[in-house]
Amino acid sequence: MAEAITSEEGKPIADAMGEVKRAMNIIEYAAGEGRRLFGYTTPSELPNTVAYTVKRPLGVVALITPWNFPLAIPAWKLAPCLIAGNTVVYKPASATPLSAVKLVEIFEEAGLPPGVLNFITGPGGSVGNTLVEDPRVGGISFTGSTEIGTAITARASELLKKVQCEMGGKNAAIILNDADLDMAVPGVVQGAFGSTGQRCTATSRAIVEDGIYDEFMSELLAQTAALSIGDGMDETKDVAPLSSKNQLDTVLEYIGIGTEEGAKLAFGGHHLQDGEFAEGYYVEPTIFTDVRTHMRIAREEIFGPVLSVFRASNLQEAVEISNDVDFGLSSSVYTRDLVQAHEYINTAHTGMVHVNAPTLGGEVHLPFGGLGASGTGQREQGTEGFDFFTETISVYIDHSAGAKERSKFI
Ligand code: NAP
Repeated sequence: MAEAITSEEGKPIADAMGEVKRAMNIIEYAAGEGRRLFGYTTPSELPNTVAYTVKRPLGVVALITPWNFPLAIPAWKLAPCLIAGNTVVYKPASATPLSAVKLVEIFEEAGLPPGVLNFITGPGGSVGNTLVEDPRVGGISFTGSTEIGTAITARASELLKKVQCEMGGKNAAIILNDADLDMAVPGVVQGAFGSTGQRCTATSRAIVEDGIYDEFMSELLAQTAALSIGDGMDETKDVAPLSSKNQLDTVLEYIGIGTEEGAKLAFGGHHLQDGEFAEGYYVEPTIFTDVRTHMRIAREEIFGPVLSVFRASNLQEAVEISNDVDFGLSSSVYTRDLVQAHEYINTAHTGMVHVNAPTLGGEVHLPFGGLGASGTGQREQGTEGFDFFTETISVYIDHSAGAKERSKFI
């Protein structure tokens, strides 16, 4: 499975192995939750009445997924959706059909009855749109760009369908003066350049407090320079090519925009094309400094190995910079000070916050998702992940002997 992911998406094989593990974890977790789709009972205000709730599936649910996690994201939608009793029409990204086919084959091999999991490939503009429009589809779970997710949310809402969209990010890591740089620098390097920056939770901004700025930058540049770039199938490589020509063009365009906007190119920025790099969409890990919050590279999702670095004079200013974007997926702070850590946790405008850890990922038993332009609708994963795929029905059972008996009590 990992080889399938790396061969079509390009990420380093170790990241692909991690993705396979994550998919296994979510399927295992969702299987257990099948025994815990609890409702609740409650006293009724009426006599001889039992009141309780049950969860019911939505019916047919459309799942539309992106190319950057071609196994884990489909798995984290499919598993809870099926366990909750729905049938599925699943459309993967056109760029990564192989991982999707392999995942569906596994469900088939596991004995899922025909018709429960339906798989369709094709362009989002036609196939995806048809799924959103079809009256037989009761719910849509989408992960992808904010642009497409916004359009799907608008249309599904008009049609009064249940919809959840997990979308883009512009995640920031804050490094305060008291940070442990042995944690912070590798955390930022991994966050920014791991999986070639093509993660929704990738670190695309580092906000560094004045007192530690120079030391942080010199370590950051040294560790970035030590990254080895090459074919994702080669286990010794840290940074692999971008996934497509489209991605390459977009990332190079943003590097040009950053330079034109007046940010300082402190590292990288080149399209690598010679020798072993001739056969792929390789861009050097790239670091901009002197970045200002109004710049496009500071506000827009680049989705590649490009990090923008800001200076801040204290935590408050750092959080203001971190929150000054439309996105709100993930963020992190590096500090040894519990007071500052909690202040950050209470004020960061993101759906996931990390302390002394990269902005990346999450565990399957906790909700995953973003605020603002990063997400709409109910959260994925965790116990909340099942709320989207079910309706809660309230039940009232009158077990009095009859109207006469009943009147004695009223
Ligand atoms: P995308 O272009 O929005 O595509 C996502 C999916 O939507 C694909 O299957 C695509 O099909 C389909 N699609 C395209 N147009 C559609 C339409 N009009 N109606 C219905 N479906 C349509 O996103 P992407 O480039 O694949 O993925 C990268 C984005 O995903 C980034 O913004 C990243 O941040 C985000 N992402 C978010 C999360 C999260 O959990 N928040 C996780 C991973 C990625 P085609 O492939 O056929 O175009």
